[in-house]
Amino acid sequence: MHITKIDEHIHLIDLEPAGIEDFIASYVLIGKNVAIVETGPASTVQNLLSGLKKLNVKPEEVAYVAVSHIHLDHSGAVGTLLKYLLQAKLIVHQRGSPHIANPEKLWAQSKKALGRLSQVYGEPEPVPEERIIAATDYMTFDIGNNIKLKVIETLGHASHHLVYYETLSQGIFTGDAAGIYLNKYDTVVPTTPSPYRLDIALQSLKKLISLKPRFLYYSHFGKAYNAVEKLQAYKKQLKLWEEIARQGIEKGENLRAISNRIIESDVALQKVEKYIKSHPILSKTVLEQSVEGVIRYVERMYTQKPQP
Ligand SMILES: [Zn+2]
Repeated sequence: MHITKIDEHIHLIDLEPAGIEDFIASYVLIGKNVAIVETGPASTVQNLLSGLKKLNVKPEEVAYVAVSHIHLDHSGAVGTLLKYLLQAKLIVHQRGSPHIANPEKLWAQSKKALGRLSQVYGEPEPVPEERIIAATDYMTFDIGNNIKLKVIETLGHASHHLVYYETLSQGIFTGDAAGIYLNKYDTVVPTTPSPYRLDIALQSLKKLISLKPRFLYYSHFGKAYNAVEKLQAYKKQLKLWEEIARQGIEKGENLRAISNRIIESDVALQKVEKYIKSHPILSKTVLEQSVEGVIRYVERMYTQKPQP
């Protein structure tokens, strides 16, 4: 577990699941109260608690725990965490909240979708309903000292996805709405697992661009500058992947062939190809699950088209 101060009032805790650095971040905002954005998976909850201790945050000072969506790598720890943070309320998308209160189905589906990786993330514990705030678009939460978190509904990656605009630094906690940021390479790659909605994701990105953020705080991973430029580049990258998937499907190519053609065409991806291919998690999530998510999306769009 490492802590990085990324602004006067924001710290990043590297949660390091299975010892993997620079992969999952939790952010701690310190104003009059304290808010945590993203908890990471259940398996790293002790790392998060050690991080809070190091930051001299007392458990009772935490007023809010905000999560972008209910995928295990973003919010799997929340049930366990709230047992320690007795004053904290959880902020989650209204469509995610029933699964946070009763995570059995979420866990079963995650095991199916993620396989071995679900064990790396660990089983989520339930959150009592009375501690959940089912968030809707533009709800705002006051942390004090001019720090506010504004909820921005950003669907596409998932049907239960939010990002948080932070008013003092004018930065956005992106969750998975803006891709995966490989901070050492200053490069973004898609996170588009099935059932991905590329059309809706593009609308969400447009919404984020209109906020003119100064910074992006990626859950995977870290603070990024040139925020608007990055969001625009991500839009382009998604459209490129969609086009290659469309051509591949027309030619009857399989996932592997389409994945290879994406690598051949995507200059950003080429920059990090080696890193991704040798990464224990990204090798699967980016080059297989993300590619598959775009392929399935294109297939669905084709079959939904009315016959002439
Ligand atoms: Zn996700």
